[in-house]
Amino acid sequence: MINVTKAFLPDREEYIRYIHQIWDNVQLTNNGPLLQTLEEQLKAYLGVDQLYFCGNGTIVLQIALKALEIKKEVITTPFSYCATTNSILWENCTPVFVDIDPDTFNINPDLIEAAITPDTEAIMATHVYGNPCAVEEIEKIARQYSLRVIYDSAHGFGVTLNGRSLLSYGDLSTCSFHATKVFHTIEGGAIISNHPELHEKLQLLRAFGHRGDEEYKFAGINGKNSEFHAAMGLCNLPQVPAIIAARKEVFDVYDAILDWERLRKPYINPTIEYNYAYYPVVFESEATMRRVQAALLQNEIAPRRYFYPSLNTLPFMPRTYSCPVSEDIALRVLSLPLYVGLESKEIERISQIINKNL
Ligand SMILES: *Cc1c(COP(=O)(O)O)cnc(C)c1O
Repeated sequence: MINVTKAFLPDREEYIRYIHQIWDNVQLTNNGPLLQTLEEQLKAYLGVDQLYFCGNGTIVLQIALKALEIKKEVITTPFSYCATTNSILWENCTPVFVDIDPDTFNINPDLIEAAITPDTEAIMATHVYGNPCAVEEIEKIARQYSLRVIYDSAHGFGVTLNGRSLLSYGDLSTCSFHATKVFHTIEGGAIISNHPELHEKLQLLRAFGHRGDEEYKFAGINGKNSEFHAAMGLCNLPQVPAIIAARKEVFDVYDAILDWERLRKPYINPTIEYNYAYYPVVFESEATMRRVQAALLQNEIAPRRYFYPSLNTLPFMPRTYSCPVSEDIALRVLSLPLYVGLESKEIERISQIINKNL
């Protein structure tokens, strides 16, 4: 079976060398030495001042909302993974959906102002497929209405915009280091902050809200991660340029073969350094998407409906919103297999099956 993704595994001996260190240190978690080294290396790689390595890419979204004391309405995108919306709901805030741009599939900045109410406190937007949101427009609106901006940058690792890591934008930015992402630590995530005054708070929120045995500040959560996960990150981080280069090669083969008369891709900002995180294609209709999906599955190829469904249509949303662009794209999009080691002849075979069924 060729799946939409396959986790990257580093050299086994290198990982085992770190495991020996963990045995020698006898510190398995709680801000251990490998975790601290990984945080330093990530900060250097991303060019950011403050970054906290956490348990996953969902808890960091929750910590972000908590740190900024967001309690009411959060303007967000319907075209993302459900973790984005779920974190808003889990923090007892109200997601307010704003439809996406039909070209980039990111939240449409022109529609944000109309969704602002006296209860709006924040904008939580996703850089979909690693393609940057309209960060300048969003920042302008946020400044005008005193809103906070949180970017779900789960797809953004390795992307630079205007010469800066995409993860450095917003009041807070979060990333996922799940096994399926461009850079991974098995499970993991990070929160990146540009606000020096939030640093202590973020550190405390990640670890139960207390310092030592006596100083209990507020109700934190367990957002920590372990030395074993940090070790995987230390092995994988130096591989990121090679991982991105290998992903680009897959991209180039699909780009060359797929039938662009009948297929569409999101518009990717040409000024960025991209990470080639996903290969989504949009079909002419839902029926075509289903036909292609069935043909691929018959050949033991499993693309992913990513993203589907449009999050505003989830049955547990507190309010009803209409987001016609997002709902339409979600019905017609498939993300194609893309990972390090996917061979050209497989990519050609996948492309031919798709072209034949358009
Ligand atoms: C993967 C992902 C998440 C969740 O990350 P986890 O580490 O799996 O918790 C959140 N948002 C988006 C857009 C994602 O793709």
